[in-house]
Amino acid sequence: MSADTRALLEIENLTVRLADPAADDAPKPLLEGISLSLAPGEALGLVGESGSGKSMTIRAATRLLPPRASVEGAIRFEGTDVTRMSGPALRAYRDTGVGMVFQDPRAHINPTRRIGAFLTEALVRNRGVGRREATARAAAVLGEVGIDDPARRLRQYPHELSGGMLQRVMIASVLLAEPRLILADEPTTALDVTIQSEVVGILDRLRRDRGIGMVFITHDLDLALAVCGRVAVMYAGRIVELRDAKDLHERAAHPYTLGLLGSRPSIDVRSARLTAIPGRPRGAFESGPGCAFADRCAHAQDVCRTTPPEPVRFRDGDVRCHLLDQIHSVPTAAREGGA
Ligand code: SF4
Ligand code: MG
Repeated sequence: MSADTRALLEIENLTVRLADPAADDAPKPLLEGISLSLAPGEALGLVGESGSGKSMTIRAATRLLPPRASVEGAIRFEGTDVTRMSGPALRAYRDTGVGMVFQDPRAHINPTRRIGAFLTEALVRNRGVGRREATARAAAVLGEVGIDDPARRLRQYPHELSGGMLQRVMIASVLLAEPRLILADEPTTALDVTIQSEVVGILDRLRRDRGIGMVFITHDLDLALAVCGRVAVMYAGRIVELRDAKDLHERAAHPYTLGLLGSRPSIDVRSARLTAIPGRPRGAFESGPGCAFADRCAHAQDVCRTTPPEPVRFRDGDVRCHLLDQIHSVPTAAREGGA
């Protein structure tokens, strides 16, 4: 993939290695050959089971990996190499370039301080905004994320707010920094289903209204398809399939993606969803030769166990699998896009 000058975030051939603290051997790749790019205002879903590398990918993008991790490849934000940023540039990138929304807002909001103090602190301290003005801005963004009576909420403590309300506060705090990119890591997983869709709706509206790019991490393929224009399916530290969300149902090609689609229950039995594919995913330190999905793949052949598949263009998506033509019975000449 070549550098895209219009990209907001561009990750090219990212590999992250870390030594297993329990073993004494060479560092193993936790992420391997991750390539993706995101345009301003676009939403990209990262979908996969826990441990597939979704969070690790955005930790790498924000330089929040453990110091022992070795990083290869390029990560560019608005054309600037994030892996080489330091000092003020790195601070500015983290403060105002990119905002993070996490699964559990309570873990990221100081319980002993009022919501108003939490929301205004960075504005006052880092950006020299006066206290009165910061409070006015905080009240305005609380309104924007659908919180009634913002003045009262600003005086409350985190324990006085529900989980859904706190997640809105978290999103409001991100908005106050006016980021161009939001990285949302399972932002609704801890919430009730009705609140989930409200929070997703807020993120979606902000993306559209403010043109903020969004990487949306979830283990819920339906949710990713509902929120994102493109979806990257991750498995064992690799992107195994990347394609437009609107095409995924019709054109999904990787056996793992097909497994995810096939294992979707007709009623909402979310916990059963991803375990319907036989076997278990490889752990972070279990990398071996060949395709990481081979132990669970009904189509696996010898080549799958010896040679790792590189991504190829297939049905207008990028797919990592050796046997696509065979599995989908498409003659090579009829393949769209070419490799
Ligand atoms: Fe299955 Fe082989 Fe394709 Fe891996 S490369 S997904 S094991 S067919
Ligand atoms: Mg995670």
